[in-house]
Amino acid sequence: MNLSGTLIPGVDSSKPLIMAGPCSAETEEQVMDVAHQLAALGIKVFRAGIWKPRTRPNVFEGVGSVGLAWLRRVKEETGMKVAIEVANVKHVYEALKTGMDVLWIGARTTANPFAVQEIADSLRGVDVTVLVKNPVNPDVELWIGALERVNAAGITHIGAIHRGFSSYGKSNYRNDPHWQIPIELRRRVPGLLIINDPSHIGGKRELIMDLCQTAIDLDFDGLFVETHCDPDHAWSDAAQQVTPQHLEYIIKNLVLRQQDVNKKNAVTLEELRMQIDKLDDEVLQLMEQRMGVSEKIGIFKKEHNVTILQTNRWNELLKKRINVGLSKGLSEEFVQKIYSAIHEESIQLQKTVMNK
Ligand code: PEP
Ligand code: MN
Repeated sequence: MNLSGTLIPGVDSSKPLIMAGPCSAETEEQVMDVAHQLAALGIKVFRAGIWKPRTRPNVFEGVGSVGLAWLRRVKEETGMKVAIEVANVKHVYEALKTGMDVLWIGARTTANPFAVQEIADSLRGVDVTVLVKNPVNPDVELWIGALERVNAAGITHIGAIHRGFSSYGKSNYRNDPHWQIPIELRRRVPGLLIINDPSHIGGKRELIMDLCQTAIDLDFDGLFVETHCDPDHAWSDAAQQVTPQHLEYIIKNLVLRQQDVNKKNAVTLEELRMQIDKLDDEVLQLMEQRMGVSEKIGIFKKEHNVTILQTNRWNELLKKRINVGLSKGLSEEFVQKIYSAIHEESIQLQKTVMNK
């Protein structure tokens, strides 16, 4: 990929580059209030959504074009660069016309190559910074594809935002981080700046600090944090937004790590350990989900008066798992041990359910 050295001209991109601002621009007063507080903290890039992609209709979908003038005011009064989300050609046109400095492509848009291509075509010959959020689904190819489309249109001030991936079922996160995916992106596109968005990963403000630190530990280049003066009353994403004071606290308490310049692209031991920790978290989360299903089976068996242990089913399951395990390079003995332990725990659980 053809990358310019700087992400946003006029903004020092030494780590961590912090971008902050409300999920949505709501009113001119709200925008100016948070912008002045963030500028006072030394934040150089202000984010706000004016067209909001929402999962369900009939909720606040952004103030629309009127918000562009408010962001323009932020730029003029505070000197911060301003960033908004664009999802179609009309958005791009209006954003460029009003001098927005950074355009980001949202997760739902990145997942659609037609939409990304149209946006990329509309950016041909324009000198603007574009940040591409990961697609909602955990697919590094799709993410790289979107970055390539934008880059092929001549955009060299280009970066990626990691905002997590949606998953089915219960999770502690709003969007699971799957840290191995942005790490793979860094391996595949050396030199690309990757910014972490802890807000959309966490979904709740209590998780933001920890996610920021993990991102720093994994050598991300920056943070993209939803910040609002009155988060509880925000018109969108209320639970995950932090106040400027909270953001200040986070920034002051981040433990920054030195990176050996000679090892710029080498994976460090710390990074590998972090990957192990994250994978282990995911393993346990899956176990929790599996036990939940097992419990439901227990209830079913109780209602239908079926025995807990059905040897055929168990033999079949084990045989299948061992074969899958072998195809993934795991030894038969190892898979057998894991599944015996899981099976035992599951039987215990069903016993409890059936004897309730
Ligand atoms: C946002 O940043 O406000 C947003 C809508 O994010 P995403 O596209 O990651 O859901
Ligand atoms: Mn949001």
